[in-house]
Formats: sequence, structure tokens, C-alpha cells
Amino acid sequence: MSTVQDRIGRPLRNLRISVTDRCNLRCQYCMPEEHYVWLPRSDILEFEEIAALVDCFTEVGVDRIRLTGGEPLLRHDLNTLVQMLAAKPAVRDLALTTNGILLTEQAPLLAAAGLHRITVSLDTLRPERFRALTRRDAHAQVLSGIAAAHRAGLDALKLDTVVMRGINEDELVDLIEYGKSVGAEVRFIEYMDVGGATHWSADKVHPRDAILADLAQHYGAVTPLREESSAPADRYRLPDGTVFGIIASTTAPFCRSCDRARLTADGMWYLCLYARIGIDLRAALRAGASKEELSARIAAGWQARSDRGAELRVEHRDRAALLPASELRKDPHLEMHTRGG
Ligand code: SF4
Repeated sequence: MSTVQDRIGRPLRNLRISVTDRCNLRCQYCMPEEHYVWLPRSDILEFEEIAALVDCFTEVGVDRIRLTGGEPLLRHDLNTLVQMLAAKPAVRDLALTTNGILLTEQAPLLAAAGLHRITVSLDTLRPERFRALTRRDAHAQVLSGIAAAHRAGLDALKLDTVVMRGINEDELVDLIEYGKSVGAEVRFIEYMDVGGATHWSADKVHPRDAILADLAQHYGAVTPLREESSAPADRYRLPDGTVFGIIASTTAPFCRSCDRARLTADGMWYLCLYARIGIDLRAALRAGASKEELSARIAAGWQARSDRGAELRVEHRDRAALLPASELRKDPHLEMHTRGG
């Protein structure tokens, strides 16, 4: 295995694989519109195709895989894919991000299939607020799914909370306490102006400094952990030892150490969350390209990369939603729910 580097010296280590663009929630920060254009079903990669592409990515340095969506648990028999990927020695870390609705049934299957880690999105502990935020009535199922993950032994459990001013920034302490009760590390994510966040505005961002101030006011001194990592979250410790994270992608991006790329459910490869153009790996795969040819194509794509999308957004004056809904409808690949967040 070789490790390729991009034009500013970043290796390719992490691959986020979206297994479906469908979702069973309609979160305000991701899918606020009434109607969406979906990827054609015939374009969606089979599990064998995903596994074949993973072999090409691991050839050039990827050793961490995260399955995403849409909502990945909507993909039938996902545990079969997990089993296929977990059997690959080059995949050192295999994780999944889910909204948790279908986790109660699937957590034992995923654990048995060899999934290493799981992250559940949880933006609120209040059922009525969940309904308003997601336009679905499924809060109890999410909490049940989190408990099921814990029972199934998926111990490195994380809870991801997108913090939106005026929506849920008053629940930071409650979420930390809930995380403690279920053995999960909470990560607060700044509301991001990615494709699909058509209702984004700067005044709805509750930034890292405000999150830290809120928690320090309640708990006392918050201590940053000194860690060498390309992980997006900065981690902190509370006086009682509880560790939590903050992903400050909007106000303090971490593009300089970004080693992740995204594969959509139909095999488009994006080298940045904000990239407008992707590389079509499905077409090459289905045209019969060999593993060596695909690996070479991936290596060349990464070596040409200079993306630092979130940093460029910070420099933007009059920052507003990235793309209007009309443009997203023309190309659903620009949507975060297609790209895997
Ligand atoms: S904006 Fe692009 S380059 Fe920056 S951290 Fe996100 S994916 Fe990486």
C-alpha cells in the first residue's frame, strides 16, 4: 500500500461512503425543502461494487471507512456490506453515522457483522422539538436505537448534535448529561453552510466559543485536550472528567489537515464537502476498469487536489446559503444528503 498526498501534502486516509441518498427525516439544516430529486436506482452501486472500490482506495492509503447516507440504515441488508468491509485487513476503522431510527433492530446485526464504531445524530432531547426540527415523529425510536447500540456492545458510541441558535442551543448541558447516561461522547457541530442548507444564515450559527462559554458557565473550567489528530472534532474535558467534542467547521475550519473524501451512493467521488465537481468512478468501474487502473485514477485525482472549501467560505464576505434550491435540484450531487455529510 502506498499513501498518496495532495498538492498541499495531505494524505488520503478517510473515505466516507454514502450507501443511499434517501433519508427518513427532513432536518432543517440538511433537507428543509418539500421535494427532492433522487439518484436513479440503476446508478446506485451494488455492495460488490462498493467493496471493489474500497480495495482501490485502500491501495492508495485509505484505512478508515465511514458509512453514511442519506440514512444508511435504509439500505437493505447493510450488515452484509459491513461484513464485507470488516473482513478487509486494510480497513483498520469501520464506522457508521446514522439518525438512529432503525437502530433498535439493526444494532445487533451490525455489531455481529464487525462494525467498529457508531455515531448517532441527536439534536434534541425534546420530542416536540425533534418533530419541529425533522418533520417526523420518531424521537422515541432514536433514543431506543441509542440504547440498543449500547446493549449490542458498540461501545465507542458518539452522539452528534448540530447546534442551531434559537433552536437547540439551550440543550447543551442536557445533551452532555444524556451522553454520560448512555456512555456516549457528545460532539457539538456548528451549523454549516453546505449544499442543502438552504435556510442557513450566519446568525443561526452558535459558534464554538459560545458553546464553550455556555458549558463553562454550568460546569466550571473546560480544558482542551492536546491531541495530534486529523479528526474534525476538537476535544475538551469537563471538571468531572467528561470528554466532549466540538466540530467548528463553520468558524474555524480544519482543511489544512483534511484527509477525507466522499463517495456517493452512485459512485461519484468528491474530494471536498464543498466541491462542485466530482470524479465518476461508477462509469469507469462498470466499463471494466481494472483495480490498478482505478487505483491510478484515484491517486491522480488526489494528487491534483487543492480543495479547502470551508476555509474559503470563511473568507467570503456577506456569507449566505451556499446554493439555492433551484441549483440543487439540477444536480442532487451538490446536496449534503447525497454527499454523506
Ligand atoms: S471543507 Fe473540504 S477540505 Fe475543508 S475540511 Fe471539509 S472536506 Fe476537507
